[in-house]
Amino acid sequence: MNMPYRIATLGSHSALQILKGAHDEGFATLAIANRETERLYQSFTFVDEVITLNRYADFPSIVGELEKRKVIIVPHGSFVAYLSLEDHKRMRIPYFGNKAVLDWEASRDLQREWLSQAGLRLPRQFRSGAEIDRPVIVKLYGAAGGKGYMFIRDATDFEERAARLHEAYIIQEYIIGVPLYIHYFFSPLEQRLEILSMDRRYETNVDSLGRIPASAQEGMNVDPSYVVVGNQPVSLRESMLAEAYHMGENVVRTSREICGPKGLFGAFCIETIITPDMQFYVMEISARIVAGTNLFIDGSPYSYLYYSEPMSTGRRIARELKNALLSNNLAMVLDDSSIV
Ligand code: ATP
Repeated sequence: MNMPYRIATLGSHSALQILKGAHDEGFATLAIANRETERLYQSFTFVDEVITLNRYADFPSIVGELEKRKVIIVPHGSFVAYLSLEDHKRMRIPYFGNKAVLDWEASRDLQREWLSQAGLRLPRQFRSGAEIDRPVIVKLYGAAGGKGYMFIRDATDFEERAARLHEAYIIQEYIIGVPLYIHYFFSPLEQRLEILSMDRRYETNVDSLGRIPASAQEGMNVDPSYVVVGNQPVSLRESMLAEAYHMGENVVRTSREICGPKGLFGAFCIETIITPDMQFYVMEISARIVAGTNLFIDGSPYSYLYYSEPMSTGRRIARELKNALLSNNLAMVLDDSSIV
């Protein structure tokens, strides 16, 4: 069945997954590309249309045209990176998701407030170097993808290296454990939360330090860095799955208290580290589809349990939009700024 809307996104991040999912659910698709990516997106038969910009930052120049067409935007991480919060809010193109959540996500302080209100366990935060009483990670405010993070052993180490910090930063307890990124989907139509998949990131060089004995590292002066190069699939011990599920429920419930009745819906990811005593510590939340879901374009073991057919996060988004259209509930799954 053909859907009366075209699903559009920016050509980057998880665009292929989103557009393939949209196509499989009966939507026409639109990739907004740049000169470098246009031929790539044109090469896929499930991409029906490509609009090419000189630079992604020029996106606001086509907003007027898209507002006149029957297009639904599905945002992803790069979309948020290229478009300011103000541009996001000004845009009236039908938008999958709740833009009110963006403010809570974009500020590290508000995000922390949201997560702690949801009862999640967070790494301790230190206000100054003098308070440091354990290993910490120093995160620059502007850092992305773990670039520019510093591992610091103790207060003396901090004193010695603080002079190198020229921008705003936070000092956070360093949690030693296994990183696990949990990909959720909350359906406003069914009022149901699903865990669709999970991944761990593969980060250089921190994930390779274990390949050199600690004794050999001594004196080498290697600093761990956290630059993401890829993602690996993970399945979680089933005895821990209920807690992972409850964390997702709590985040959704609290989002309704802090940013209006629609709250957080659609895809989101809770980024955790699990310690040897099986505690989840939450590092961050991403309030939309994350790139780790690209591992599961053909579905994951978890999405199979729900759907018994290939169901990526991108396709799940399109399925929700389709069900909303078929039941005349489109406004329930779009931001309130959308003209429908
Ligand atoms: P993105 O926006 O792409 O998610 P980011 O810059 O916000 O990245 P984080 O996801 O916060 O970065 O962290 C990057 C990596 O740093 C994590 O995958 C993890 O390996 C490490 N890390 C972050 N916080 C901690 C912590 N408190 N303890 C131990 N390691 C951490």
